[in-house]
Amino acid sequence: MPAAPRHAADAAASYNLDSIETLVYAATHDVLTGLPNRGVLLDRLARELAREDGVDRQVAVLFVDLDNFKLINDSLGHESGDEVLREMSRRIRTCACDGDTVSRFGGDELVVLHPCAGDGSENLLGERILAEMIRPIHVAGREVVVSVSVGVAICSCGAEPAEHLLREADTALYAAKSRGRARIARFSEELREPQLYVDYQPQVDLGTGRLVGVEALARWRHPERGLVSPTEFIPAAEDCGLIGELERQVLRTACSQLARWHQASPASRFTLTVNVSPRQIEAPGFVDELRAILDETGVHPESLCLELAESALVNPDVDMVVALKRIRAMGVYLAIDDFGTQHSSLARLRGLPIEVLKIDRSFIDGLSTEPEDTAIVSSILSLAFAMGKHVIADGVERPEQAAALHGMGCAVAQGYLFGAPVAPEAIVPLLSRPLWQPQALRRVPAAGVLGGELRRRGHRSFIDEFLDHIGAPMGAKTRAVKRTS
Ligand code: C2E
Ligand code: CA
Repeated sequence: MPAAPRHAADAAASYNLDSIETLVYAATHDVLTGLPNRGVLLDRLARELAREDGVDRQVAVLFVDLDNFKLINDSLGHESGDEVLREMSRRIRTCACDGDTVSRFGGDELVVLHPCAGDGSENLLGERILAEMIRPIHVAGREVVVSVSVGVAICSCGAEPAEHLLREADTALYAAKSRGRARIARFSEELREPQLYVDYQPQVDLGTGRLVGVEALARWRHPERGLVSPTEFIPAAEDCGLIGELERQVLRTACSQLARWHQASPASRFTLTVNVSPRQIEAPGFVDELRAILDETGVHPESLCLELAESALVNPDVDMVVALKRIRAMGVYLAIDDFGTQHSSLARLRGLPIEVLKIDRSFIDGLSTEPEDTAIVSSILSLAFAMGKHVIADGVERPEQAAALHGMGCAVAQGYLFGAPVAPEAIVPLLSRPLWQPQALRRVPAAGVLGGELRRRGHRSFIDEFLDHIGAPMGAKTRAVKRTS
């Protein structure tokens, strides 16, 4: 029976062919959306840019990123998030032209490769995508309205390598996000080097009025828009995955600056606080990078404090807890920013290696005028002291607030009363004089909400602890004794 073996052989051959095709498909396509993956895009982009057929060709790349995708995942769940991504892919495919490649580049980011002829068709494509994506999407029995931001970069074939063009489109996407999202931005030379720098805000010892620490705050001077607030560009950087790079730059710059200050005036050692996002803490390799930055700059780990938003610590996952413990084991302090705003209690934070609480300025605002705010601050302080935590009061603007805080035993404060964030050069003159006259405290009656016991015991800041460790060049012990008398 010749037919049977022939049939079996055919089946085996076709089975092998099918499985090879399946493997190739799986290696080149994204499972969720069915779109070509990043590897395919990079390959096609490189080939497109390398074309040399005498025709004046151009290649445009459009980065399309969902706005606030994290919010969709958090509020509707990951399955709905996946459905939104699938629908986004379908719609963008319908907008694309023949010859375009729509690929899933990663997360909620799709990239369209659009070969064109310099007739502005890439702008029309971007407009079509914005309009298409604004129509409601039906997910999990609901109508959801989403938006996307689009970053566009274009070049002539052979003019730039693929990775340059992609970086330019990514920079343009960042600009679209920080201009308010749901819009298109084209790459231009002015966007290439956004002026990112760091200012420093003094933190003072309420007993001596002297500077004992600084908080590093990122600043971005945009060539057209002027100074952009970090409350705008930090969320934008988070949205398009640039937060890691931004925070690494801030951390490295601030640590190098601290090392320079300490070298220039060894007698006035003080601490540095740097804000970090939860994603950064959890990112693989962050702890090693932090160690490398400390090694490179020679900054003592105990003079650095990383500050995390309270929201990140209400329900921390396992990776976060592990990373926090490794950081603390290195000697670096960890602080909670805006403490009290997320209704977390210290009891809930038990088990986390957090040593410092930063009382949110919304509570400081009503200190000594609103009895409720005074009660909140005093209870945060008493619980913090009882649990051996250090406290920094944020946003102190008026002398009576400083007086009330000092009266309650709070050792360190920060705010416009002592100084706004300034350039690093402006910190140097502040080292030689008190930023605030503590005698003024005596003229203002202290709130005295706490029992005398805590006030008598006084409160040692983590800065005192640091100074003890380093060798107390600023006389931390003397200060602590003074406060207790
Ligand atoms: P934050 O960490 O709460 O920083 C304090 C903010 O309050 C700063 O605003 C500062 O200029 C302002 N401020 C200081 N003293 C006073 C005061 O007495 N009264 C009032 N009303 N405001 C005061 P800024 O510089 O605009 O920073 C805003 C936020 O941006 C920061 O809030 C922080 O959450 C974030 N941020 C800044 N740099 C970074 C960074 O490098 N990484 C991360 N993840 N976030 C950053
Ligand atoms: Ca902060």
